[in-house]
Amino acid sequence: MNTPAEKDLINRFKLEFDSHTYRRIEAKEPQCFTLTGVAAGIMALLHGEGTVEERVGTYASEESHCICCQETSCKFQVELL
Ligand SMILES: [Zn+2]
Repeated sequence: MNTPAEKDLINRFKLEFDSHTYRRIEAKEPQCFTLTGVAAGIMALLHGEGTVEERVGTYASEESHCICCQETSCKFQVELL
C-alpha cells in the first residue's frame, strides 16, 4: 500500500468560516479545528493499516492557512506519526 508520510489538503468551502464570521471575531490564527481533525482522520482511513480503531491517532494535522485569517483557502498539513 502507498502510505504517504505527509500530505497537504486544501479546503475552499467556508464551513467553519461562516460560523466564525457570524460571531464577528477577527481571527489572527487558523480557526478550523474540526476540519483539522477531519483531515487527519481521512488520511488514517485512506492510508492507515489495520482496523479502524488501530488507525485512530496515526496521522496529525495542522492548519497553516485559514479563510478566517483573510486567506483564500484553508490549508492543512497532515503527517504520519
Ligand atoms: Zn480554516
